[in-house]
Amino acid sequence: MRDAYEVIVVGSGVAGLSVALGLAGRRRVALVTSGEFAGGSTRWAQGGLAAAIGADDRPALHAEDTVIAGVGACDHDAVAVLTDGAAPGLVGLLDLGADFDRDAEGHLALTREGGHHRRRVVHAGGDATGAEVSRVLAAAVRDAPIDVITADVTDLLLSSSTYRPQVTGVIADGVELTARAVVLATGGVGGLYPVTTNPAEVAGEGLGLALRAGASLVDVEFVQFHPTALAVDGIAGQIPLVTEALRGEGAVLIDGGGARIMADVHPLADLAPRDVVARRIDQVRATGDRVFLDATRITDLCDRFPTVIAACGRYGVDPIVSPIPVAPAQHYLCGGIRTDLWGATDVAGLYAVGEVAATGVHGANRLASNSLIEGAVFARRLADRLASALPQRRAAGDAVAAPSAAAGDVAAIQRAMASGAGIRRSAQQLAVSRRAITALPSSDRALAADAILAAAAAREESRGCHWREDFPTTDATFQRHVVVRLGADGRCEAAVAGDLERTA
Ligand SMILES: Cc1cc2nc3c(=O)[nH]c(=O)nc-3n(C[C@H](O)[C@H](O)[C@H](O)COP(=O)(O)OP(=O)(O)OC[C@H]3O[C@@H](n4cnc5c(N)ncnc54)[C@H](O)[C@@H]3O)c2cc1C
Repeated sequence: MRDAYEVIVVGSGVAGLSVALGLAGRRRVALVTSGEFAGGSTRWAQGGLAAAIGADDRPALHAEDTVIAGVGACDHDAVAVLTDGAAPGLVGLLDLGADFDRDAEGHLALTREGGHHRRRVVHAGGDATGAEVSRVLAAAVRDAPIDVITADVTDLLLSSSTYRPQVTGVIADGVELTARAVVLATGGVGGLYPVTTNPAEVAGEGLGLALRAGASLVDVEFVQFHPTALAVDGIAGQIPLVTEALRGEGAVLIDGGGARIMADVHPLADLAPRDVVARRIDQVRATGDRVFLDATRITDLCDRFPTVIAACGRYGVDPIVSPIPVAPAQHYLCGGIRTDLWGATDVAGLYAVGEVAATGVHGANRLASNSLIEGAVFARRLADRLASALPQRRAAGDAVAAPSAAAGDVAAIQRAMASGAGIRRSAQQLAVSRRAITALPSSDRALAADAILAAAAAREESRGCHWREDFPTTDATFQRHVVVRLGADGRCEAAVAGDLERTA
């Protein structure tokens, strides 16, 4: 049997586009993507890509900041892969024609964001970095020998007659496409929450697909909430982000009375890691007060942050003259489908890269601007791996679809996630939310939600962006991964697994 393709890549954000491009001309490759081509969160990214390229910087310092933000839960080898690979990853994008912002001398302009102790964030169009990354990658993919298919992947094909299941393709809009390797690059879980910075097409489906194929997830309780999304009355769904880079340039968070709210909370004040800032804003808002980001003192606001200015303008807010109302919103999934350092999951033939993957880089909290670059760096490694060897098909021609997913009740999932797996969590609320999810028809979104709730219930401590009201301190005995698998009853099973050494 001849497979339709050697490799099928699912998703067209930075990760999917980069893997497909890395394989073009080396393998017969298809890129299958729902929504618009080159969509996903990538296009919306504002701040930039972190790389230790400043004169006062080194990859080891970038690694140090990444590990501090990850609160003891990062995989140090994975962090080194990222921080050593960031500069070459950036060069790869420059070679494709990425027009990153430059200073007066023509050097790449570097800014600082929360948790970074150096200026190391490269940006484009001021605060339109993701759009530029998408633009150059999409153009290169269009020019390359890659079949781009716009379709929703609803199932993975699994070989049925082998002892260990093997992924042998996908079902895309009802059509079977076979391949020796399938790469999931389906992004994060924003669509599982009522208020998120992610676009609607990013809703955790990759996690459900992987679970149903028998793969394990890790660290999915670590859901990052961006501290500063625009907060105006009645806003819901995908909310405009007010980039952290504003705080890097001197903007400060204030309460309704104008008092700074971060000054005494963390040594880095307004540039503290995201979980710290998000919790503080949540705490102030819980008192009935409002929180604002005061950027009025930044002189080149219009040139440097045109995306923020335009987004605020659509809601009648003018950041040049008045502080911007802000609140936290779901933003990023730090964990995901468990992979090794080359993108392989624990199911033969199945690979994952980008936000849907858990490489071990982010631990309990992602450092700002580490994810676009993670997508580029790990995609290149995965492409090289698949170019040099593909998994042997142990059983040919017997692919069968996993059980089909029914359409989920999106609003009910979002309600359950907001109340159970938001910034503040407790055993009681997690259990209520799990019951609500279990009562819904099975779907990949419901499975992804169940996985997050199960993992959050298993981690009986607070660490990074996972904060438990009933276990408010960090507990050294929990310096372990929480692994989630699909149980025989179709529900997720979460277990606190071995220590943080890589075992995959
Ligand atoms: C507003 C915003 C600002 C951000 N700013 C930054 C920043 O400054 N720096 C930074 O490093 N990171 C930033 N991030 C995070 C970063 O953008 C994402 O983590 C990253 O772009 C994820 O890339 P990805 O390729 O993994 O997934 P995505 O870009 O989300 O792409 C996922 C793709 O998968 C497709 N897909 C999903 N499910 C299916 C399915 N079932 N079948 C077929 N296709 C499917 C989607 O349509 C999409 O094409 C930001 C995110 C947001 C939302």
